[in-house]
Amino acid sequence: MQYQNYYTNRQINIPYLLKIGYGKIGRIGKYLVDKGLSNVALFWSEGMEDIIGGKLYKGFEQNDIEVVCQKDVRFINIEEIDKTAFNLPRNTDAIVGIGGGKALDFAKYCAHLLKKPFISVPTSTSNDGFCSPNTSLLVDGKRKSVKSSIPFGVVIDLDVISKSPKIFLYSGIGDMISKVTALWDWKVSFRKGYERYNDFAAMMAYNSIDILQIRQGSDVMSSDFQRSLATSLLLSGIAMEIAGTSRPASGSEHLISHALDETAKRPRMHGLQVGAATYLCALLQNNPSTDKVREFLHATGFFDYVAEDAFSKDEFIKALHRAPLIKRDYYTVLSEKDSYSRALHYIETDAVLKRLIK
Ligand SMILES: [Zn+2]
Repeated sequence: MQYQNYYTNRQINIPYLLKIGYGKIGRIGKYLVDKGLSNVALFWSEGMEDIIGGKLYKGFEQNDIEVVCQKDVRFINIEEIDKTAFNLPRNTDAIVGIGGGKALDFAKYCAHLLKKPFISVPTSTSNDGFCSPNTSLLVDGKRKSVKSSIPFGVVIDLDVISKSPKIFLYSGIGDMISKVTALWDWKVSFRKGYERYNDFAAMMAYNSIDILQIRQGSDVMSSDFQRSLATSLLLSGIAMEIAGTSRPASGSEHLISHALDETAKRPRMHGLQVGAATYLCALLQNNPSTDKVREFLHATGFFDYVAEDAFSKDEFIKALHRAPLIKRDYYTVLSEKDSYSRALHYIETDAVLKRLIK
């Protein structure tokens, strides 16, 4: 293969404003003005303005930030976002999304359409979407992953994150650990000649898991752990941007989660599905980190949390059957002929999986 085949002049974006710590909501005004952004459009998750609006607006006032438009996000139809984006006042300098997945995706896609800076302010770290180059939107009534742009800024206030319900924390842990199996799928796919590999993106993704595993002895409610989790999820998003594909943070375990979203009567939160599937896929891959995954998910209380509301065995098996068909020409361990029967065997015999899938 020629050298130039490896060369790519694709532009890689990274966030220019990155703040993680306590009391950050009140400082957003200062961060914006420092970057020369004074007129902002705000998109909120429902109810969030009542909780943190006071602190945000105080900081805005002190820094002469003007809110040119604001809206609570309830729906994420692509047509609605399109309409909203092109009706924003022309003097809008930046678009700020505050809250959970929908508000952030709405704001992110708006900013992408208008080629304006997007500031992502997640109020929980339940998945890596707050800093990824993708959005999950409704297109013709169906949830689809739509290419977007990585945020210009990410501001994470640990005061707010630490008050979010535990389910968000465990979902974040599950989504974070999925890199173990995603990276295996990506590497094997590359070795089989199906996919390009990017050493730097992979290194970043591996490294971000290490950061968190060092913290596995610490209490998941501690600020050290929550800061590491937020950083690790943030690095996932950047690894995807560098790789130009979601491969560093999404593989077989995400396919099972997508299949559960399609087939289960009551799908669980993204990272809970992904984390449980990561453990199963690690077994299927004979992944050298399987023991570490098991220990980590055990020590953090993830398994106990998921076991409290276990998956239906029938639904999980249906999802396993469906998962490898979700993406065409996409190699993962689930593409292997014997994976389905081996997975059924593990579900029946593995002590952890017997608690999670009933
Ligand atoms: Zn995910």
